[in-house]
Amino acid sequence: MHHDQKLGRIRFTFLRTPRPNYNEGWGRNPALRYLLLSDIHSNLEALEVCLKLAQGKYEQVLCLGDLVGYGPDPNAVIEKIRPLASIIIRGNHDKACTGHPVAAEFNPLARLATEWTRNELTPEHFGFLQSLPAGPVRLEGFQIVHGSPLDEDDYILGPGQAFPLLRSPGTQIVCFGHTHHQGGFMLSPQARFQSIRLPLRKDGLILAFPLEDQGRYLLNPGSIGQPRDGDRRAAFAIFDSGQHVIEYFRTSYDLPKTQEKMRKAGLPPLLIQRLEHGR
Ligand code: ZN
Repeated sequence: MHHDQKLGRIRFTFLRTPRPNYNEGWGRNPALRYLLLSDIHSNLEALEVCLKLAQGKYEQVLCLGDLVGYGPDPNAVIEKIRPLASIIIRGNHDKACTGHPVAAEFNPLARLATEWTRNELTPEHFGFLQSLPAGPVRLEGFQIVHGSPLDEDDYILGPGQAFPLLRSPGTQIVCFGHTHHQGGFMLSPQARFQSIRLPLRKDGLILAFPLEDQGRYLLNPGSIGQPRDGDRRAAFAIFDSGQHVIEYFRTSYDLPKTQEKMRKAGLPPLLIQRLEHGR
């Protein structure tokens, strides 16, 4: 059961279940459904709910960085994601927590959480984070990055950053994270620039956004563990390289439980509060 809704010039489809026949293929690419997870930030409750919701709907897991930082469960999150993901690229927090100088650019709260995480990580997990590759990683027909294809630490927040990237010939489909904003940006086949702004929708409802063959796209699955787009629910996406569709998901999780763990861990109160505002 689904219905279409037109938002500006962008047409989304609301689905209760994923599209059928996704393995029919698109072009010469092997048709795969990729679960895109980004900015988990040591939030185990959010990650577990997202994985449960995504179960059976994907074939491979791609992780766009920031497994840790801010939240109370760095080791448990790494244990969960490590055997699941085909590719994990590093985020700025993963780097900072293993001693990279990028931590010096963090605000004081992020720095406190970084130090807490560094002390908490087991030596094995510390080594694992340290070994993560930088993006971009190119896959069949698209690439994944943490921040931007030009610099893993850059933020693609608005047209100022997105438009030049979309115009550069290297960009066809780029999946990115780092901003914690679900959605993205596009250049239509007629070279019209648009922000992909997602409407609020009910818990668990899938927002399917079909990609046009000649369009160019910067796609952000949103943040699992610390959304900042005004919706506190955990965010992720499934990119279907066969149907050429991205499906955006949003789901509630046991936020009070995560907050209680953060309190017990002595993490900064402002980081605990911001989770409930989704900012
Ligand atoms: Zn992040």
